[in-house]
Amino acid sequence: MQNNYIIPIFIPHLGCPNDCTFCNQKSISGQAKQVTKMEVRDIIEDYLKSFKDENAYKEVAFFGGSFTGIEKEKQEELLSVAYEYIKDKRINSIRVSTRPDYIDKDILKLLKKYGVKTIELGVQSTNDYILKRCRRGHTFEDVKRASKLIKRYHFDLGHQMMIGLPESTRLDELNTAKDLIKLKPKIVRLYPVLVIKNTQLEKEYKNKEYEPLALEQAVERCKELYYLFNSKKITVIRMGLQNTDIISDPKNASSEVVAGPYHEAFGQLVEDRIWYESILEKIKKVNTKVKEIEIEVNPVDVNNVVGHKKDNLNRFKDLYDVDVKVKQSENIKVGNFEMKILKTYKDFLDD
Ligand code: SF4
Repeated sequence: MQNNYIIPIFIPHLGCPNDCTFCNQKSISGQAKQVTKMEVRDIIEDYLKSFKDENAYKEVAFFGGSFTGIEKEKQEELLSVAYEYIKDKRINSIRVSTRPDYIDKDILKLLKKYGVKTIELGVQSTNDYILKRCRRGHTFEDVKRASKLIKRYHFDLGHQMMIGLPESTRLDELNTAKDLIKLKPKIVRLYPVLVIKNTQLEKEYKNKEYEPLALEQAVERCKELYYLFNSKKITVIRMGLQNTDIISDPKNASSEVVAGPYHEAFGQLVEDRIWYESILEKIKKVNTKVKEIEIEVNPVDVNNVVGHKKDNLNRFKDLYDVDVKVKQSENIKVGNFEMKILKTYKDFLDD
């Protein structure tokens, strides 16, 4: 299997005219500075030097929300550096993330010119009331229009949605996922809402007008959405924000997170839960009380079976009194597993 490497370059949207309640871009725009051409080159070079697998697929990703909202000259300046690496075959592709209302034909032509392959749209919700409630500044109609245009220009389409926005219910989120599926994205990212310092959402949280999701709720909601997208062959490439110095445990002094379902390995928690449920389903199909099982998986999936800090193994033991042994096998395809019953309760009593 080919390794994939991402070279992330964060582009702050300085002077963003929007006012999303969960975003602190306005408060940091005084401190942040725009990335330069030289810095993009340095970042790419540093990452390329650190990659061990020369033959891996390498992608430059301009993250930060609204790439196509920054000045056209700046977009061209940054893209032209990454494009040089594409022409030299030192990187394979470029991706950008942006807002649905910052997509039009001219923008897409510009991105095409510089070899951009994937465009990710920050959708957040397809419910216009929730979008308005978060002062998002665009509608679901913008999402539909932009998504169709992106596909017409043969880019890979990505969608980013948020879980636990103010007044958003589990049902609203399932509906958002169903709406997005109709637009046929190739990839999706799921971001549970965190309350960040110096945002409108922080004020609402402190005034008790907003209650963030508990970690368990966020894991459960993401799991359901994951199943839904997966059933339509849409890959969920990320769940939970990337950990950084400022997106970290609220207990850390440098953390900008005030509240919400933060976890350093949020995506892993969701994956663990998905594996747990698949194994449990198989155990339940066995027509006898099981005491000890062996799960054979590809080495890549061992951690998913065991769970973060052995959560899954402990859960099987605590809730079902089942001991789980994990066996690695290259013969099992990634994502699959085989279950062998090592001991039933009858064996156990006979011992
Ligand atoms: S999340 Fe909203 S406010 Fe923040 S940078 Fe993006 S568009 Fe601007």
